[in-house]
Amino acid sequence: GAVIGILGGGQLGRMLSVAAARLGFRTHIFEPGANPPAGHVAEYVTTASYEDESALRAFGQAVDVITYEFENVPTSALDLLGSLAPIHPGRDALRISQDRITEKEFLSGLGLSVAPFAVVDDADSLAVAIEKVGTPSILKTRRFGYDGKGQARLKSADDATQALADMAGAPAVLEGFIDFSCEISVIAARSPSGEVACFDPGENVHEGGILRKTTVPANVKSSLRMDAVILAGRILNELDYVGVLGVELFVTPSGLVVNEIAPRVHNSGHWTQNGCTVDQFEQHIRAIAGWPLGNGQRHSDVVMENLIGDDMDRVPSLATQAETALHLYGKADVKKGRKMGHVNYVSAIAKG
Ligand code: ATP
Ligand code: MG
Ligand code: MG
Repeated sequence: GAVIGILGGGQLGRMLSVAAARLGFRTHIFEPGANPPAGHVAEYVTTASYEDESALRAFGQAVDVITYEFENVPTSALDLLGSLAPIHPGRDALRISQDRITEKEFLSGLGLSVAPFAVVDDADSLAVAIEKVGTPSILKTRRFGYDGKGQARLKSADDATQALADMAGAPAVLEGFIDFSCEISVIAARSPSGEVACFDPGENVHEGGILRKTTVPANVKSSLRMDAVILAGRILNELDYVGVLGVELFVTPSGLVVNEIAPRVHNSGHWTQNGCTVDQFEQHIRAIAGWPLGNGQRHSDVVMENLIGDDMDRVPSLATQAETALHLYGKADVKKGRKMGHVNYVSAIAKG
């Protein structure tokens, strides 16, 4: 069977490896950190940094196609790997989503709504940004943020100095605070032939910047669900995208506002493992391997809950519950704020 190379060995790489194995593929993980969760299920693991050219070269030569489970792969590594094997999703999607400014410019260029924003590099540009965007607002690092890290909230202009200090000198963006009624996301897939399939939008609840729960169906009007799916399809087509993409959206009285896109399988798509015949991980593997997309129709209602840090104490009790599917990542040390696993509560589709 062909070998799929995956950059990053976290839980997303692990679940991609499981899905790939089910389709008869073998996976090869490239991950700088020791003992990656994906390493337990992949056939090959390279532990090396993205600066290690010989390790990158050997990896690129050993695999038939390359994908990734996180956005921050350095450009130099991608240049080298791209000369050795196809990379899906492509470089454009990665470049655009690596920087919140590029991302917002791309999305608004498509005519989609994003939060009002302004570039911030120092105290002067922050003062100008506050004039433009107003408060309340959120200052975010342009790059490398995840799980709400690298963000500071401004209730008023008085919070400017502290917020800027929180950025520790990193280039940033000030975003107007969106007064949303709820958050939803679309997990969307596109194949090399241009076939598009979207999973049913899920409703997301965050706590402290970290995803806590996803519920499908989302409790929003069906016309809004349709808007979300169409919008995601437009992003995929514009990027000539191959693979699975996560699109995070705010629901507001004036319609959908795009928060951010993630060029990979997405935490808010974990419900698909128990809610669909073909889940987001298999859909991604199918797309990057040039297979037809599978049936991602939702056959059940699902609530996905992340197991974060001490939530692991609940595993023995969760394991006794019917209709409860546990997914654990095999991480040895429990840490506060660390995603250790998730659980899908499955029920029959509610009538009406
Ligand atoms: P991840 O990539 O893990 O989803 P992140 O670190 O990129 O997270 P964001 O998605 O930017 O963080 O923000 C995390 C959460 O903070 C959002 O899901 C939302 O609940 C809230 N949030 C972020 N930006 C805004 C905004 N402009 N207005 C209102 N709420 C926001
Ligand atoms: Mg993000
Ligand atoms: Mg987010």
